[in-house]
Amino acid sequence: MSAIHTSSLFGAIEAGGTKILCGIGDEHGSRETLRIATTDPESCLAQILSFFRAAQDRHGAMQAVGLASFGPVDLDRASSTWGHITTTPKPGWRDADLRGAVATGLGLPVAVDTDVNAAALAEAAMGAAVGCQSVAYITVGTGIGVGLTSGGRTVSGRGHPEVGHILPRRHAAHEGFAGICPYHGDCYEGLASGPAIIAAWGGSLAELPQDHPAWAAQADYLGQLCASLILTVAPEHIVIGGGVMAYDHLLADVRRETARRLAGYASLWASPQVLEARITAPGCQEAAGLVGAYLLARGEC
Ligand code: ZN
Repeated sequence: MSAIHTSSLFGAIEAGGTKILCGIGDEHGSRETLRIATTDPESCLAQILSFFRAAQDRHGAMQAVGLASFGPVDLDRASSTWGHITTTPKPGWRDADLRGAVATGLGLPVAVDTDVNAAALAEAAMGAAVGCQSVAYITVGTGIGVGLTSGGRTVSGRGHPEVGHILPRRHAAHEGFAGICPYHGDCYEGLASGPAIIAAWGGSLAELPQDHPAWAAQADYLGQLCASLILTVAPEHIVIGGGVMAYDHLLADVRRETARRLAGYASLWASPQVLEARITAPGCQEAAGLVGAYLLARGEC
C-alpha cells in the first residue's frame, strides 16, 4: 500500500432503505464502521454526525465524505436540490437533504451518487470488474437496483438510471401475479425483488424447493435484465449481488438465460466462458456501496 493511501482519511456513507452504513478510512478498508437503522432523516443524521465527529477524534481528520444513497436522488450539481432525495415513498425522506446536512454538520465537501452507481464504481476499481471502464452492477434484494459506469464514470443525466423499473416479458409461471411495485406493478422490481418473490410464491427462494417454478422465473427475469443491459449500454462486465443472489446455481442459470435471450445476437457474449467470466458475483471485500462512497469522497479532493 502506498503512502498516499495511508495518509488520507475519508468518510463514507452507504444509505440504504433499511440500514445506513458509515465508515472512516479509504477504499482499501475502513478503520471503523457504524451500522444504523434507516428511520427518520433527523435521527439518522444525528447518529451519522456523532459517529464521524468521534471517529475523527480517534483516527484523524477526514478530507471529504462520499454519500452512496438510495434513490431517487438529484445528481445534478447545478440544481438547487443537488443531493436531495426526490420522489421516494419512504416516510419522511421525500426532499430530504442528507448530503447538505452532512456537509454543513462536518464542514467538509460531500460527494453524492446512487448506492448502485457507487457500487459499480467500486467493483470497477477494486472488485470483480477491475480494469473495466463500463460496468453494470445489479443488486437484487428488497428492490432491484442497477448502477452503471461508462468510460470510467458513473452514468447520470436528467435523473439517473432506474433500470429496475423497466417492464420485462412475463414468465409463464407468473401469469396472474400483478407484481408489487407501487408505481408499475410488474416491473423487474415488482416481479423479481425479494419481497416480490415472497408475494408471488409464499416464501423466499431459500424456503422453496429447487424444482419450484420460482427459480426458473427468477433466472428468466435476471437473464432478460442482463440481456437488456448488454444491448443498451454494452458493459464489459455485469456484477450481480444482493441477498436474493446468494446461490451459485442461480447465477449459472442467469448466464444461461442471458444467452438464450440474446439468441446469438451479441456475439461477443456468445461463449459460455465469456458469460462465466463477465457475469459474476461481487468482488469487493467490504460492501461495494461503502467502497464506492470512499471513491466518491476521494474524487472531491
Ligand atoms: Zn417499478
